[in-house]
Amino acid sequence: MSSERSSVKELAAVKGTHDILPGEVEVWQAVEASVVGMFGRYGYRELRAPVIEHTELFEKSTGETTDVVQKEMYTFIDKGGRSITLRPEYTPSVARAIVEHRLDLLGTPMRYFYIGPMFRYDKPQKGRYRQFHQIDIEVFGEKDPAIDAEIIEMADSMLVSLGVTGTETLVNSVGCRACRPAFSQALREAAGGVKDGLCGDCRRKMETNPLRIFDCKVEACREQAKVFPQITGFLCPECRDHFAGVRRYLDLYGVAYRVEPNLVRGLDYYTKTAFEVVRLDAGQQNAVLGGGRYDDMMKDFGGPDVCGIGFACGLERLIALVSVKPSPRRFVYVVHSGEAARAKAVELARIFRRGGVETLVEFAGRGFKSQFGRAAKLGAAWVLVVGEDEVAKGEFLLKDMATGTQTSGKAEDLLSSLQRPG
Ligand code: AMP
Repeated sequence: MSSERSSVKELAAVKGTHDILPGEVEVWQAVEASVVGMFGRYGYRELRAPVIEHTELFEKSTGETTDVVQKEMYTFIDKGGRSITLRPEYTPSVARAIVEHRLDLLGTPMRYFYIGPMFRYDKPQKGRYRQFHQIDIEVFGEKDPAIDAEIIEMADSMLVSLGVTGTETLVNSVGCRACRPAFSQALREAAGGVKDGLCGDCRRKMETNPLRIFDCKVEACREQAKVFPQITGFLCPECRDHFAGVRRYLDLYGVAYRVEPNLVRGLDYYTKTAFEVVRLDAGQQNAVLGGGRYDDMMKDFGGPDVCGIGFACGLERLIALVSVKPSPRRFVYVVHSGEAARAKAVELARIFRRGGVETLVEFAGRGFKSQFGRAAKLGAAWVLVVGEDEVAKGEFLLKDMATGTQTSGKAEDLLSSLQRPG
């Protein structure tokens, strides 16, 4: 008994991962179809990169001092002795693909989207998984603040179109290489003053990358961080103008937002604009989506000097908020009795399916009545009756399960009646 139990446990999904089962998956599909449609209208094209990349890619772009790289990567040595990582985020892969295929030389807009799984060895809890899914969009080669605002507006439209309410859009500027060092120094000094009140991690971050203190989840550190200096007072004229431009365009678009000076985002590569959409009613896992500008990332790992901006939205967190009702599936259930009828049922199912109609035939050898019962239980929209008489006549009975209306006819005529809209 105990060995049986342990074998079931071993066969359970890996901690922090989850199955998306029929019944739920329809909501995922509806959300995905809706966002893909929307991204298309803004000129984005899908770019599919591999799930695995060289570890170095994330160390160089996501940043060696980030929690993602230091604590959360699924990294392994492959049989060829290479260090490989299951991507914890998508932006570095897109940047790599651009450099590798020189997409920047094509002259086409560099607007890409992707939907797929990401992997982070994080402490699993509600809204935080080890395999989770992101909707990711990236724009490269566009410096103007109008594009930052357009992306935030697209995120806003995406949420509106999915019926998401109760969220707030936060924006900030995290400065650039010219202005951030002075801010980092001021932060380091402020953190140094309250060092004993900070967790060990933050004391370390104080030296390596003090901005990361704002990402700390420890309540005491969050409290201390509230009175730390804010980046706003340190922005250079270029970053200040850019941020003013972003806000001007956001106002033009009519997007509601709040400037949050402590928003720094957890990755190293951000420059200038950073933004997040957060749930107003949730605790720590409240970020539905987040993104920002990363003007130096591409050249930092040896690529061309092409700026970028994008966001990633967690699908699990998004789906918990959407009010999308997928339309119920309408399908034909074929009831049949006898050998000849079974063969005919198979043939008819093929004709119907090729004609675009979802059709289900089962072979459990039940009687007619019990097959009708099963069709009703499964929620079939129609039942197609194939008995010996029908086979002999070459005409079959189609019953509309909602209205009870029955129609007799040849397969092609019944199929055309189902193909007619309405
Ligand atoms: P980040 O790349 O950390 O800014 O994450 C972008 C978005 O992905 C977040 O706003 C979340 O919606 C989602 N996300 C990040 N990490 C996880 C996780 N471990 N589990 C579920 N969703 C996540």
